[in-house]
Amino acid sequence: MNIKHIRNATLVVEYAGKKFLVDPMLADKGTIPPFPNSPRQDQNNPLISLPTSIESIIENIDAVIVTHLHYDHWDDAAKNALPKDIKLFAQNEDDAAEIGKDGFTNIEVLTEDTVFEGIQLVKTKGEHGRGEILKLAGLVCGVVFKHSSEKTLYVAGDTVWYDAVQEVIDTHKPEVIVVNAGDNQFFQGGSLVMGKDDVYEVCQAAPNAKVVAVHMEAVNHWGLSREDLKSFLNEKGLTENVLVPNDGDAYSF
Ligand SMILES: [Zn+2]
Repeated sequence: MNIKHIRNATLVVEYAGKKFLVDPMLADKGTIPPFPNSPRQDQNNPLISLPTSIESIIENIDAVIVTHLHYDHWDDAAKNALPKDIKLFAQNEDDAAEIGKDGFTNIEVLTEDTVFEGIQLVKTKGEHGRGEILKLAGLVCGVVFKHSSEKTLYVAGDTVWYDAVQEVIDTHKPEVIVVNAGDNQFFQGGSLVMGKDDVYEVCQAAPNAKVVAVHMEAVNHWGLSREDLKSFLNEKGLTENVLVPNDGDAYSF
């Protein structure tokens, strides 16, 4: 497999000969208002430009996976750029209906036994925060990719560390795990995605996996920088376990 980190949670995953686009936020730098009630209100989103052209990102994509509809995962630029008949996976009927309102015609709801072109796509649970904030943050999912010719890949999505993430790791034994680790937060309510302690837990649960930390420094409410994560990993002796890509970096596994 090849995983290219585009920006924020946006990935291009080449897996068993198919090309997936995950959580496309393709807006130009600074074209969307900041998330409210959170740091950096003086900066519009995304905070940074795409590392490459939209055309090259969406070229030859076989399917798009949208883990949830927050605009840092599915935005107007993506809706405008993608062909309306492209194969699209959504986490549930509600999201599928919303995506359909924008004219997309080939939407499938992910389940625990979805198969696409011979590739198993397993919808996984996620919690987009802890406690009260969950009501505001709404439902999210992750996905496990499986194929006999490939290592197992777990894209965890916008989730904090909690028992269901441990369960996915125990059940599917992923060799590669992508985590959203920017510790994004509003002024109240705590972490909405993983921070460094969550990444540590993932490494403890999957000591032989390669963890790829993304969703960092791209939207205004980020709380953990790449540099801070890297120095934490250094302290904990986990630099071999966790990759912290810059936008545009790609890895083969
Ligand atoms: Zn997000």
